[in-house]
Amino acid sequence: MSDGHVDMIFDEILDTRGNAATLSSFHQIAPKLGQILRVSLLTHLVQPKASAYHWYRQQFVRCNSPKDAPGSSMCCQKVGKPSWTCVVMALQYVNADQDGKLSGSVVPKFRVGYISLARTAYKQVSELMSEAPGCDILYSKDTDGYHFVGASRSPSWQSVSLQVEEAATRFRDGQKLVSKLGKKLTDMEWKNLIAHGSPQWEEE
Ligand SMILES: [Zn+2]
Repeated sequence: MSDGHVDMIFDEILDTRGNAATLSSFHQIAPKLGQILRVSLLTHLVQPKASAYHWYRQQFVRCNSPKDAPGSSMCCQKVGKPSWTCVVMALQYVNADQDGKLSGSVVPKFRVGYISLARTAYKQVSELMSEAPGCDILYSKDTDGYHFVGASRSPSWQSVSLQVEEAATRFRDGQKLVSKLGKKLTDMEWKNLIAHGSPQWEEE
């Protein structure tokens, strides 16, 4: 997994409005402060997705500047430089202990979701993944931030790989993952959001 192995998403317009109920079934996997989660990235099933976004008015909104002209769109000119994020389909071992350990004799239980990675975190997990593709990773959070440490070179989910594939089936087209990159607005909707606080503002 390197920069060449993510889909940079620039131009898709996805209507994620009004779909909160269906989107909620695809959980974000993220440790709380002091927590250690055992996870594995499912990049062999769905290619990670990345994009530039703006955190604006308490929401993630995708940046509209095209790849060959960063900073050119109104969003960047009005609200500043965008950030970069990558979302990766992953599973969390729900029966790992509080240190993230999972005994080899235990059948792994898991749930499929996604992990959001900022640039630095993305580089960390890319290194782990290039050394041992699919490896189990300990994902933790302390007062310094989020950490990713290799847990096992061979993933525990190998013994239940068919169940993993089955659980991941409905997400394999990557649409849900793309929707986690933030709302995609047209330039007009951006303009309304900036000027009136809502993308759907209409002149009366
Ligand atoms: Zn922008």
